[in-house]
Amino acid sequence: MSHSSPASLYADLGLPPALNAKGKMTALGGSRLSDDVVAAMAEAAGSHVVMDDLLVAAGRDLAAAAGCEDACPTTGAASGVALAVAALVAGEDLSRIEQLPDPGGRPSEVVLAKGHAVHFGAPVRQMIALGGGTPVEVGAANKVQPSHVAAAIGERTAALLYVQSHHAVQKGMLSLREMVALGREHGVPVIVDAAAEEDPRAWTSTGADLVVFSGGKAFGGPTSGFVCGSASLIAACRAQYSGIGRPMKVGKETVLGLVRAVRDHAAHADGAHDGHDGSHDRMARLAARLDGLPGITARVVRDEAGRDIHRAELRVDPAQAGRDATGLAAELAAGSPPVFVRDHHAASGRLAVDPRCLTPEEEETVVRRLIGVLDGPPR
Ligand SMILES: *Cc1c(COP(=O)(O)O)cnc(C)c1O
Repeated sequence: MSHSSPASLYADLGLPPALNAKGKMTALGGSRLSDDVVAAMAEAAGSHVVMDDLLVAAGRDLAAAAGCEDACPTTGAASGVALAVAALVAGEDLSRIEQLPDPGGRPSEVVLAKGHAVHFGAPVRQMIALGGGTPVEVGAANKVQPSHVAAAIGERTAALLYVQSHHAVQKGMLSLREMVALGREHGVPVIVDAAAEEDPRAWTSTGADLVVFSGGKAFGGPTSGFVCGSASLIAACRAQYSGIGRPMKVGKETVLGLVRAVRDHAAHADGAHDGHDGSHDRMARLAARLDGLPGITARVVRDEAGRDIHRAELRVDPAQAGRDATGLAAELAAGSPPVFVRDHHAASGRLAVDPRCLTPEEEETVVRRLIGVLDGPPR
């Protein structure tokens, strides 16, 4: 076997390649990169550039695709939140930047709805703190009104944060429109964490001051991200690379891969609505094949957070299947090759196969593994 194939490099480390039927999961390495993106990263890897200039030029390119004035490349959406908060606490003042995460008595409170204080693999509160902010959660986990946010705004407020995510509580929260109106009314900037969103323009056009995206999720880029905003706020974000941004330094390979991925995503966006990418039909065919396996009822479903993603949902009847949804997912993950299915709703008896990172050949393996597990005795 060739040592240059990715599978053999993982195997050299004693790791079986994971079959990702979960979606763009950071824990499974994020996106599968296109040949174009890999080529851009390889080109960057083999040459030099003035990094400060690259950040500015790439930011301009990202901004054109995302429909904003300027943008700042980052290592991910998590660092994007930290840099955005830091930019609003310290601005472009070098001594303040070098003092972070100590805000040095300047306004540093970041107000967010309690139902938005999510954990995406790490707590968003911690990213606020890294940037020198103090998170201030308002309202209750399932009920937050504009008046809760308004009551928390004062002299110490640096920003309002709105988290757009399937991780967040989806009902009972105030809307982004209401958050932006409050920001305007009180003269406080609004940050949106739109990490996994598909359509950047839908978020940069909301009137929010800074919008944070992950490059490795919807855009299919390398592990990366970017912050969108006005020229002056983005200059303040970039300036943080001389402070708390240093351990979040983004490499030239990542920047060029991100630019390529976001450009490609923008070029394809027009044709890819409502399953026109073929994922609806593909998952409907898969669901038809899986429906009727022992204890399994399968159908195609659209993403619960409203994104244009279709998945094959499996309802697991433990009495018939011999194990519950959680057990089935665990057996799939523990087998060979390890298959990771979406288990967000396993506690309510549902699993899902997500097509985004799964090749058609791998889809066959998922079917084979499911049949194999369901045929066997429960573990
Ligand atoms: C995934 C996610 C992040 C972190 O994104 P990275 O690009 O992995 O740093 C932040 N916020 C939310 C809401 C997320 O879903």
